[in-house]
Amino acid sequence: MASHASNKLDGKVAIITGGASGIGEETARQLANHGAYVVIADIQDGKGHDLASSIGSHRCTYIHCDVTDEQQVKSLVESTLQSNGRLDILFSNAGIMNDIKQDILDFDIPAFESLFAVNVRGMAACVKHGARAMVAGAIKGSIICTASIVASTGLETYTDYTMSKHAVLGLVRSASKQLGAYGIRVNCVSPGAVATPLLCRVSSVSEEEGERMYESTSYMKGVLKAKQVADAVVFLASEEAEFINGHNLAVDGGWAGMI
Ligand code: NAD
Repeated sequence: MASHASNKLDGKVAIITGGASGIGEETARQLANHGAYVVIADIQDGKGHDLASSIGSHRCTYIHCDVTDEQQVKSLVESTLQSNGRLDILFSNAGIMNDIKQDILDFDIPAFESLFAVNVRGMAACVKHGARAMVAGAIKGSIICTASIVASTGLETYTDYTMSKHAVLGLVRSASKQLGAYGIRVNCVSPGAVATPLLCRVSSVSEEEGERMYESTSYMKGVLKAKQVADAVVFLASEEAEFINGHNLAVDGGWAGMI
C-alpha cells in the first residue's frame, strides 16, 4: 500500500472525468495520495481499470462514463453516491482535440460539434450533476474544471478547441456565482503544454519529443508535467483554498504572459 503524501483530503470522495490518462491519471494518483477516495470516469476502460487497480481498490474505482451522454453522467454521480454516500470533489477534466487544424477558412462544422459535445456540453453536464449531488447532500464541495491557457487567448490554429476552452471559463465564472451560496466552490486549472497522449497525438510526436518541443513554452527551466497540474487541483480541492471561487489558476510557467 502506497503511503499518503498527507491526509488533507481524508474522508473526501472525488470523481475525475478523463481520469484514465494524462493529467486526469496523475490527478487520480495525487488525490488518492492525499487521502481521497477516487472514482475514475473515462471511456478507455482497459486503462481506467488498470489505473484503479494500481492505486488500490480500497482507494479507487473505475466507472465507464462517456461525458457526451448526460444519462451516463447522471448514473456516474448516482453510483458514486450509492457506493460512497457523498461527493466532495469533482474534477471535470475530460477533453479532446481534433487532429485537423480547424483554421476558420476550412472550419469543419461536424468536427467542431463533436469536440464541443465533449469539451463543453460534457463539461456542463458534469458540473450540473456534480453540483446537484453536493447541494442535495449539503456538501461544501469543490468543483474544478480543466480549461487551458488558450481559454485566455486566441490561437493561429485549433479554433474549435480554443473556443471550447473559452466556454469552460464562462461555465466556471457563471457556476461559481450561483453555487457559492451553497458553499460550493467552482474553479478551473489552465495548464500550458503537457506532453500527454492528447497533445502528442495532434503534434505527431512521442512523449519524449513532445517534452523537448514544449520546453520553450514557459519562462521556467524544465518542462511542465501532469504532476504539477495535479498539485494545483489538489490545492483547489483542499480546505487550503476554502475562499477561492471562480478562479482560473494558470499552471504554465508564465507562458500565458508570452502569448
Ligand atoms: P489525455 O488524452 O491524456 O486525457 C484525456 C482523457 O479524456 C482520456 O483518458 C480520454 O479517454 C478521456 N475522454 C475523451 N473523451 C471522453 C468522453 N467523451 N468521456 C469521458 N472521457 C473522455 O489528455 P490530457 O492532456 O490529459 O487532457 C486532459 C484535459 O486537459 C483536457 O480537457 C485537455 O483539453 C486539457 N488540457 C491539456 C493540455 C495539454 O497540454 N496536454 C493543456 C491544457 C489543457
